[in-house]
Amino acid sequence: MRIVVIGTGYVGLVSAACFAEMGHHVICVDTNAERIAQLRAGHVPIHEPGLDGMVHNNHQQNRLHFTTELRPSLANVDVCFIAVGTPSCANGAADTQHVFQVAEELGKYLPSSCVVVNKSTVPVGTAERVERCIAEQLALRHAAFAVPVASNPEFLREGCAVEDFMRPDRIIIGSADAQSAQVLQSLYAPFLRKNPRLLMMGRREAELSKYAANAMLATRISFMNEIASLSECLGVDVESVRLGIGSDSRIGYDFLYAGCGYGGSCFPKDVRALIHTSQRHGLSSHILQAVEERNTIQKAGLFIKLKLQLGYLEGRRIALWGLAFKPGTDDIREAPALQLLESLMHAGAHVHAYDPVACANVAEYVPKQWLDSGQLTLNAADPYHVLERAHALVVATEWKPFRQPDWKRIAACMDKHIVIDGRNIYDPLSMQQHGFVHVGVGRGIAH
Ligand code: NAD
Repeated sequence: MRIVVIGTGYVGLVSAACFAEMGHHVICVDTNAERIAQLRAGHVPIHEPGLDGMVHNNHQQNRLHFTTELRPSLANVDVCFIAVGTPSCANGAADTQHVFQVAEELGKYLPSSCVVVNKSTVPVGTAERVERCIAEQLALRHAAFAVPVASNPEFLREGCAVEDFMRPDRIIIGSADAQSAQVLQSLYAPFLRKNPRLLMMGRREAELSKYAANAMLATRISFMNEIASLSECLGVDVESVRLGIGSDSRIGYDFLYAGCGYGGSCFPKDVRALIHTSQRHGLSSHILQAVEERNTIQKAGLFIKLKLQLGYLEGRRIALWGLAFKPGTDDIREAPALQLLESLMHAGAHVHAYDPVACANVAEYVPKQWLDSGQLTLNAADPYHVLERAHALVVATEWKPFRQPDWKRIAACMDKHIVIDGRNIYDPLSMQQHGFVHVGVGRGIAH
């Protein structure tokens, strides 16, 4: 098939590379000229395991192309995916302006019919509105064809996006016509050979399924964080509670980890968008509002724990391990580490942070004066280097190499032996044996 993917972010670029890998001819379109120039020059602008090689090979084989020009890309296209960003508006609603900008352009420039598929996470009813928007533009130029729009929400996880796309738990296709349903079933058939879970449904159901899935996962995290808070007061280790409840097959172990709150480009904005949708329909979103509130409290927790340990923070040297919102990605959107960083900067602490892949994004995001003044240093090369004379180490992201570090070496580097374990990756007892004050989340220590 000839496929056009509009938007080359985490979702668009991964989808495009994986479709090309299956033998399709794929054109990636993005308005970000710098991103397209990088891709053309062989540089993949996001960190995702396995993506570099796949993009490079398919580009070399002439199956994957990059351009800023939508109009010429649309010649003979069979399927056109919309995978642009849908960030939060100030009131929490999903900002769909990029989606409708693309819809309008498709209506103006599509030379013939094709299936348009919305992959961006969008409010219920968006596929219908996109279809109408395209139809209006087609009518203006008296085009003699119609363009059906399907909904195909994406469930890949950053950090293992290629793997998830190639071997998905399920594919959801929301359609209102036989042509889209049939084209998408055939496109996804090779991805479902091992796990044939293809769920066909209506477009509105597909759109709500995506929000409900993210809201459910965020709810599990906030629920566990609330149990962790209670555990701290009760002198209970939340890790034992996690095992105690996760072993119930009705509950399961996934997404039951207490920590420093969820971040990223999806959970926070999607929970907010769902709350907004409920409110627009006159409903109160009791559960999701509580989920969000709990997460706000949780994200502030690292700073509070640090302050309780050190008494004051001005002039303190803090080592920070992990800046990305989760391991395996360079995405820092709404990462708990960023909130901590901001609080520490305002408190006058000095932060030396290590992250293997997210430093460049942080350097672009933070005020320049933090870096110029030396109050913040970023290190992508050596996690031990940032520990020199530190008064405390905070772990904000559970990158694998943090799990079993050389504690002797760490003890020799640090001025004070305090570890704030925001992801509960260390065993409190063995940390005590190594001579560290260990403060986890919900690890039975009353604060
Ligand atoms: P992103 O911000 O990484 O990338 C979006 C890209 O779209 C950018 O490169 C931007 O330049 C481009 N763009 C914006 N307007 C454009 C236009 N008019 N024409 C062409 N390109 C345009 O976004 P992302 O993380 O890939 O997410 C995309 C969508 O997928 C969002 O709705 C998101 O909620 C959803 N989603 C994301 C994930 C994830 O893990 N990141 C997972 C599932 C679903």
